[in-house]
Amino acid sequence: MSDVICGIDLGTTNSCLALLRDGRPEPVIIEEGSAIVPSIVSLDDATGRIIVGRQALNRFAAFPHHTVRSIKRLMGKETHVKLGDRSYSPEEISSFILSYLVTAGAAVIGSEIRRVVITVPAYFNEAQRRSTIKAGELAGLEVVRIINEPTAASLLYENCEDEGGENETNSPCILVYDLGGGTFDVSILEVKGEIKEVLASCGDSALGGDDFDERLIAHFLRHIREQSGYDFSDDQDRALHSRLKAVAEQAKITLSDAPYARISEVAVTVMNGEPVNLELELSRREYEEMIDDLVARTMEKVEEALKEAHLEADDIARIILVGGSTRTPLVQERLEQLFERTVSFSVDPDLCVALGASVQHGLITGESVGHILIDVTAHSLGMKTNDSFDPETGDADYFSRIIRRNTAIPVRKAEVYYTNYDNQDRVEVEVFQGESESCRENALIGAFPYPLKPAPSGASVVVEFAYDKEGLIHIILEQKGYDNRKEVTLDIRTNQVTVRDEAVAEGKITNYMVSKGRKLAQRSDAPQKMRDELSALLDEYVAALESNDDEETIDSLEERLLELMDELEDAATGE
Ligand code: AMP
Repeated sequence: MSDVICGIDLGTTNSCLALLRDGRPEPVIIEEGSAIVPSIVSLDDATGRIIVGRQALNRFAAFPHHTVRSIKRLMGKETHVKLGDRSYSPEEISSFILSYLVTAGAAVIGSEIRRVVITVPAYFNEAQRRSTIKAGELAGLEVVRIINEPTAASLLYENCEDEGGENETNSPCILVYDLGGGTFDVSILEVKGEIKEVLASCGDSALGGDDFDERLIAHFLRHIREQSGYDFSDDQDRALHSRLKAVAEQAKITLSDAPYARISEVAVTVMNGEPVNLELELSRREYEEMIDDLVARTMEKVEEALKEAHLEADDIARIILVGGSTRTPLVQERLEQLFERTVSFSVDPDLCVALGASVQHGLITGESVGHILIDVTAHSLGMKTNDSFDPETGDADYFSRIIRRNTAIPVRKAEVYYTNYDNQDRVEVEVFQGESESCRENALIGAFPYPLKPAPSGASVVVEFAYDKEGLIHIILEQKGYDNRKEVTLDIRTNQVTVRDEAVAEGKITNYMVSKGRKLAQRSDAPQKMRDELSALLDEYVAALESNDDEETIDSLEERLLELMDELEDAATGE
């Protein structure tokens, strides 16, 4: 077996192993189809065996005194942790995680792993770095280099063919925003060729996704109290807490992609012999209110880092998102407000540090590192909403983004919208791609009507976009609380609209031209003759579509339609 060098992200919550295969960084899938391994170690008293990763996580609730998590926080300290009767140094515990990663990883890749690059936070001092090297040595590894996590992330993005959060500036500065489970770090790096200097690094070692979970747990406990009268808020029951933590984490992850999360848990605990259930629906909006102050604290640190580096937000050429909690839409939104540009990630934020560490290995050994090929959305996708409704023209022009630019595909995201008045009978759904807040400046991809069932004003319509590698956007619309669902597929390359519901059977297929054309034909500031002509041509076009006329006829009708629509628009605006 040949020897390979791997990159290791030895994280507080999770760890990950990656390697360069044919010059391309790749994560090593170790557990249950995932490259992400919980940084948890447990001692099985009966056998004396050390258990690491997901299995150790599963033991946490039952064997809390034999299990340790977040050992990274103790690196560099002269201390010991107890697992049952045994006592271990932080280096020893970390060495168990490293051993597990390389042993399991070697079995997957079929090569021995003896030499590794390990990442550490930029703020780690000398003692903490030495402690990390020692952990590697205890695991029988040669630590060829220790690199800073933000540096690793930046190395990866240098070899990535996307433009995430880029600014039109020649500045060599990048900002790495790393929000994990238990810690938050922000670093600003200056890139001078191969040298990356850390200009500023700050954070909060007790702020992360775990705190988001805690807010949700408190909400659940309040809900249980209101529903059942039982108050568990001061309860020290670890089993209840770890059950609610798992529910909270799942709800939080759901809310990153959808506007609502339904929670339905039977017997989270037992009281007076009766099961206590947890049954509620949570909206993203409610959740965001719960975590708003926590996210705001991270933004204060970002501003602190900018100040420390003597830079303005505009001087940052690129923003890199690292850590699972950066999938939270509110985090991305707040960063966008601060930096006034779209921010997203294209490489999985859980993997990019380990992948970057494997790139570092390539630089050490002189192996050429190829670009990472990732399929990302080239533009944001979203729909027109009436946030900027103009009563004079009856026009709404606000572009509401559902899928952000540079998001890895396939991707599925949902948002909620609200009706404007009682018994609103339909929504004209218009799908756009682009980056402007104004739909007029973006490209229209397709449009179709969505009939609504009678409901009071403010009724919710959940819109889900799923975008796949074939360039198809599958849209599902659901009027919440009413039995009214519609599925539509748009082909982004051809602007073809396919409606998969009763409208297809009735042959009522429209495409964006029809929708736009009908609106134009109603404009009172355009000459009546042109409006009539347009209406007639639209009818002819729809009839041709419905009767599946030959392509030539449809093409020629489309051409005439486009011309007439342009003319009418010019005439209406007096040009
Ligand atoms: P890390 O320490 O980088 O592995 O990040 C772990 C944290 O990311 C945990 O708090 C997870 O609950 C959180 N996380 C993972 N996936 C998501 C998601 N889709 N949305 C929000 N938080 C997430």
